[in-house]
Amino acid sequence: MPASTVPCQYRTGRTLGSGTYAIVKEAIHIKTGKYYACKVINKKLMEGRENMVRNEIAVLKRISSGNRNVVTLHDYFETAHNLYLCFDLCTGGELFDRICAKGNYYEGDAASLLRTIFTAVSYIHSAGIVHRDLKPENLLFRTPAEDADIMIADFGLSRVMEGGIGGEKLNLLTEICGTPGYMAPEIFKKTGHGKPVDVWAMGVITYFLLAGYTPFDRESQQAEMEAIIAGDYKFEPQEYWANVSQTAREFIRWCLTIDPNRRPTADECLKHKWLASATPHFVPDP
Ligand code: ADP
Ligand code: MG
Repeated sequence: MPASTVPCQYRTGRTLGSGTYAIVKEAIHIKTGKYYACKVINKKLMEGRENMVRNEIAVLKRISSGNRNVVTLHDYFETAHNLYLCFDLCTGGELFDRICAKGNYYEGDAASLLRTIFTAVSYIHSAGIVHRDLKPENLLFRTPAEDADIMIADFGLSRVMEGGIGGEKLNLLTEICGTPGYMAPEIFKKTGHGKPVDVWAMGVITYFLLAGYTPFDRESQQAEMEAIIAGDYKFEPQEYWANVSQTAREFIRWCLTIDPNRRPTADECLKHKWLASATPHFVPDP
């Protein structure tokens, strides 16, 4: 993918969403009439953190097109003021909004959706990447359809872990990053972290999908952090969990293992009976 030098090849339209550093707009490639999502990053806002964007581009180049549930970076360019990253356009909104609109997911639907996301996480991990910011705001539906593909987006905080399985421990990351409610205990403890933080975040997402609220929500960030470090959460209030199976609870408990060395990998999660028996979320290509 060569870097485009001609930003005027695109016309931007409505705003699709915004995050910590970027505004994402719908964009049309004038020559082909194709639609994309264009992440516009203000260089001034990113001053001193330019490496985050360069890193996001490097990671995306490494994994783009390798898995149908990871957003593909199609083009990037910069002007004097902004950096532009053009992705597959996802018109179905964030998983966050669907959870909020539904209240919660039926267990079978949650399991099949999670199986797809875990498969994509496993792919990212096999490419040596740790995402570090998995949460329902960064999981997008490709179309508004109920059975639309779910896509992992936002690799702004991701990192490349070099050295394969044996080398991972030598390359543990220690900076504090992410979104508090989804952050694993080892991130706060600053004991070094890697791929297991994504599995922890998936455990929190699973809890959220089934209950409609997150497990470590507390009155202050300090209390939230203490609850995460202690692994202090419950399947309560009862009325929200009455229809959730023991197998699903066991799966969440497994993902939320405090010790990252004992936490399952994404591949191991896929073999857990709760995910293994789920029906695939999408109809595979013929
Ligand atoms: P940030 O790093 O600032 O969090 P994101 O990459 O998460 O930026 O993008 C911010 C928001 O923009 C997302 O939460 C989502 O609502 C929207 N968005 C991002 N990428 C796309 C896309 N490919 N298609 C549609 N909307 C997108
Ligand atoms: Mg984001």
